[in-house]
Amino acid sequence: MSSQRTFEYWKEQAASLSINGQAFINGQSVDAKSGETFETISPIDGRVLANVASCDEADVNEAVKLARAAFDSGVWSQKAPAERKQVLLKFADLIEANQEELALLETLDMGKPISDALSADIGGTLRAVRWTAEAVDKVYDEIAPTSENEIGMITREPVGVVAAIVPWNFPMIMASWKFSPALAMGNSVILKPSEKSPLTAIKLGQLAKEAGIPDGVFNILPGFGHTAGKALALHMDVDTLVFTGSTNVAKQLMIYAGQSNMKRIWSEAGGKSPHVVFADAPDLDLAADAAAAAICFNQGEVCTAGSRLLVEDSIYDEFMEKVRQSLGKWKAGNPLDPETNVGAIVDEDQLNRVLSFIEKGKEEGANLTVGGNRVELAEGGYFLEPTIFEDAQPHMSIVKEEIFGPVLSVIRFKTDEEALQLCNDSIYGLASGVWTNNLTRAHRFAKGIKAGMVWINEYDQGDMTAPFGGYKQSGNGRDKSLHAFEKYSEVKATWIKI
Ligand code: NAD
Repeated sequence: MSSQRTFEYWKEQAASLSINGQAFINGQSVDAKSGETFETISPIDGRVLANVASCDEADVNEAVKLARAAFDSGVWSQKAPAERKQVLLKFADLIEANQEELALLETLDMGKPISDALSADIGGTLRAVRWTAEAVDKVYDEIAPTSENEIGMITREPVGVVAAIVPWNFPMIMASWKFSPALAMGNSVILKPSEKSPLTAIKLGQLAKEAGIPDGVFNILPGFGHTAGKALALHMDVDTLVFTGSTNVAKQLMIYAGQSNMKRIWSEAGGKSPHVVFADAPDLDLAADAAAAAICFNQGEVCTAGSRLLVEDSIYDEFMEKVRQSLGKWKAGNPLDPETNVGAIVDEDQLNRVLSFIEKGKEEGANLTVGGNRVELAEGGYFLEPTIFEDAQPHMSIVKEEIFGPVLSVIRFKTDEEALQLCNDSIYGLASGVWTNNLTRAHRFAKGIKAGMVWINEYDQGDMTAPFGGYKQSGNGRDKSLHAFEKYSEVKATWIKI
């Protein structure tokens, strides 16, 4: 049904949408204690969508106290996994029933195309909640191989109060990768969405209550990083802090943990992922389409964006012609139009940041072959042409730094050794892709690339069944799959003498 909606339909829905900007604490929609709010502005046309509660330390203290009380009461933490599963499945059903409103909020708040919000963001969130709910009553504890007169039980227990701080690029999905396993394990959760995209998180809090998640177990605290985020990270009674966002903030959170209660910090941070195309790629057209999608999807605001394209010298001209053509199919437009595949950049700051990298790329001598300009639409907003820099060099800032926009840096290589060295020449290690028909080469790269994810002859695939996360300064721990449960539980050894 949703796929048949028109541009007109979405504009009408947007105009009539009533948006709640309150925090959600202990099962209630509340203002920040200070009464402060901040405006959340749509990058599509610059209009104010809502005044959102600006939570700070006082709200964090209240939410943590109530989350702890809920945890200690056992109302959720001591439910059987099968019971928590039923509630989470109902939560997923409610997300599905409200998918149009949630997708619209996501598009209005951070600018992504409505068709992606429905398919990728709603689809990914539903899959995260449902898969995790279905998994949690199939996770067994262990018995240690002890001597005959002893039993050693190895059990997992929920950690207690989990704070989740998430970014704006996939607000619902990033949140659901955290709160699904955290709640499934029995923890109480405090979710702080990005100040740039708080609206869907607020709605999710309300739906969670409707599904039967008890008061105090799932709380939403909109606010800024330096107020609400910092207070959560320094709080003495938050047991675990899970984070997705930039590497700089991830490092800061580790300092806060050291300054407070040594809370566990798990972070999914930045990336500058290499995408390698060899002359023996099975299909150069497919590889070119993948290279374009890897930098254009979600306006390039993707931690796993294939932002460093490494192309074998012998096919460089032929292949780059295909990439330029494929990139031409990605065009910035109003994201409420279901035909649009490149939406708005999240805000003016981010637009200016990306434009400043484009200037740097020119100054450093890379060859700007496609795009490079702001796109002016009648509605205003922050739009950008997908951009390609060719003949980039490893030392350039457009190759080294995460731009987080639709800007592709292309480097030529001649040998396997050179390509592998280029892949690993980064402080990051999140994702990577390699196109080759040579099995040995594919395995050599899969083993040799220092990254949490390697795609062979495809790019940016994934599912809840496999872990997601990075090496090096791309973070620690893993979201998704059964591995995610490790972040939300403590392991206990109990010895019994017989
Ligand atoms: P960001 O680090 O600026 O902000 C992320 C969150 O941290 C926000 O909620 C923000 O309010 C909060 N924050 C900021 N300063 C804080 C502080 N001092 N204390 C506590 N919280 C603070 O990142 P962003 O701009 O929202 O998102 C883009 C970044 O996220 C990129 O680097 C991208 O690669 C990364 N990201 C990584 C993954 C992954 O899984 N590895 C996924 C998506 C995005």
